Amino acid sequence: MFKINENYLKLPGSYLFSAIGKKVNAYSAAHPDKKIIRLGIGDVTQPLAPAIIEALHGAVDEMGKAETFRGYAPDLGYEFLRNAIAENDYRARGCDIHADEIFVSDGAKCDAGNIQEIFSLDNRIAVCDPVYPVYVDSNVMAGRTGTYDNIAETWSNVIYMPCTEENDFAPEFPKETPDLIYLCFPNNPTGAAITRQRLQEWVDYANRVGAVIIYDAAYEAYISEEKIPHSIYECEGAKACAIELRSFSKNAGFTGVRLGFTVVPKELRCGDVSLHALWARRHGTKYNGAPYLVQRAGEAVYSEAGRIQLKEQVAYYMNNARYIYDGLKEAGYTVSGGVNAPYIWLKAPCGMTSWEFFDCLLEQVNVVGTPGSGFGPSGETYFRLTAFGSYENTVEAMERIKGLEL
Ligand SMILES: *Cc1c(COP(=O)(O)O)cnc(C)c1O
Repeated sequence: MFKINENYLKLPGSYLFSAIGKKVNAYSAAHPDKKIIRLGIGDVTQPLAPAIIEALHGAVDEMGKAETFRGYAPDLGYEFLRNAIAENDYRARGCDIHADEIFVSDGAKCDAGNIQEIFSLDNRIAVCDPVYPVYVDSNVMAGRTGTYDNIAETWSNVIYMPCTEENDFAPEFPKETPDLIYLCFPNNPTGAAITRQRLQEWVDYANRVGAVIIYDAAYEAYISEEKIPHSIYECEGAKACAIELRSFSKNAGFTGVRLGFTVVPKELRCGDVSLHALWARRHGTKYNGAPYLVQRAGEAVYSEAGRIQLKEQVAYYMNNARYIYDGLKEAGYTVSGGVNAPYIWLKAPCGMTSWEFFDCLLEQVNVVGTPGSGFGPSGETYFRLTAFGSYENTVEAMERIKGLEL
């Protein structure tokens, strides 16, 4: 008789966004005349930039001719894309990362979920609280997290690093020593960034205690301040302790196109075993690569036209972020984020819990956001709004929020 992977049964209740979806659908069904504005899920809304569409069309035509048709992609991804990444994302910023340390994939969510496979089940993970749920849930599925406490909403074998107003939403070194440290900056959900100096301290810490940092830089393109690092490899010693995850979803609108990559430096070792070799083995065995068409589209992200167009796209969203941030401030809210990230993180007013504020916004003014508690216990009493809507909807949502009767 077969058995299932019982770790899956340990996963608590419904997924945050399906819980939100249910509430919104129920409200919509009861009030079909109301126009709901969604600033909840972190998905982009602007169409693909012209340079990317052009690259896609070109690649489609190549696939239609015998001379230029392509089958399986190379294991690590096409060299034209890995070279563009190494040059533009790393060397241009003074990071000594080579094309053969880059593994192209179909997105950072899969990589974030899969990377834990190359580590022992004995490893203890540390995560920020609140946190992007993939890091924890993928470790639950693997059986690394111990038992779940329904009241505290925490796992017995996970080290939580609260990120709140008190520490400016940047984690402090935990009391217990972790083996794997998940960091995401600029952060989803808080919109906070980490300074180069503070990230250097984390790199030094990881090297000192023998931990690996899994650094999710999906929001790198939204950084506006000089003191904020775009890559963990801007820190000295990071190549000996850090894996970096990147995505084309937020900088180029590829959430539906699918492209990302992981950097595993060759220096990163456990004794005499190279993590690069383990990840290469995993990639080669379980993955057949992102589509050629999409890798060509990814290459266009780094072209001159692509860069200009995407800068505009990011600026469009960041203009929304500023509009939300300023509007909430004016209305007397406690607000953070929105400067180096497309997320605005606010304190629920009048001592409300995050779900109470969610209901209040939905029912009174028909605006949907994300309750902070969905990202972890320290997110309780906080709320996330995204800048990924249209400008018109953002303006209207802010007018409505300002009219809330609290
Ligand atoms: C959106 C997002 C990603 C990107 O995921 P993809 O699978 O590349 O679309 C990765 N990490 C975080 C924290 C995100 O919010």
